Amino acid sequence: MEFLPLLTLPDGCKDAPLWFVFRGNALLVAAGANGYRLPQDDTVTALPAPLRRHVLGLLDDRACCSAELNPEAAPPPGHEFLTLRALFGRFDEALLALAGRAFQIIDWDRTHQYCGRCGSPTQLRDHERVRTCPACGLSVYPRIAPVVMGLVRRGQDLLLARSPHFAPGVYSAIAGYCEAGENLETALQREIREEVGVEVEDIRYFRSQSWPFPHSLMIAFTCRYRSGHVVPQPDEIEDARWFSVDALPPLPHPVSIARQLIEAGAELIRGETHETH
Ligand SMILES: [Zn+2]
Repeated sequence: MEFLPLLTLPDGCKDAPLWFVFRGNALLVAAGANGYRLPQDDTVTALPAPLRRHVLGLLDDRACCSAELNPEAAPPPGHEFLTLRALFGRFDEALLALAGRAFQIIDWDRTHQYCGRCGSPTQLRDHERVRTCPACGLSVYPRIAPVVMGLVRRGQDLLLARSPHFAPGVYSAIAGYCEAGENLETALQREIREEVGVEVEDIRYFRSQSWPFPHSLMIAFTCRYRSGHVVPQPDEIEDARWFSVDALPPLPHPVSIARQLIEAGAELIRGETHETH
């Protein structure tokens, strides 16, 4: 499926749109036999008028739109409001990615109704996804916060850590927000140094993933251990240690780039080990 982002729908969209309807941070879904699906168009049009509405674009030839309901709105019969995280593995993956896009646009729109510089009400423009202030001219685009993630390798082992808010037993690669003025490489080195006390080198780009909690872009890398002893940062990291690829702990959800990064790293090491034996 191919997605084309648009601000207005082209003439001749015959099919009813796919609706991404939010109440707060939760998406309106219909419970089906095999997980959840988006609500039908007639269900959405029967809802009370939304607080705001956006065109997202076209998925193949199908229009995609989003709407945000009043925080008190009740779900129609057979429907419920679920967070995007709760839908991992229970919802079509391409549609879940679009729901993440829809959520970020709605969240940006509702949190920038007033100018951050002069306090005047802002206006949504129709030629571009931007809110501008008519009084002082400030423009505010949807925000994206870059997060670097690094899988550190030492010989046949991988360095994984767990934060106190992870599910019990789950370990992951080390990640953190880029700070103003940093590039991705220095941000990654700083995060790994701060969180586990280790220096790394040979940083290589792996892949990236939009992560709508609430507006992150995860940028994943592999790297190699250079020096230092593993010392978890108090408060941030509950435990960090080297794991053999044959004895990995429970990992994050398969949808996440963290899981894909760790599995790709482990697969590479297993392949090398296999070749040498
Ligand atoms: Zn202003």
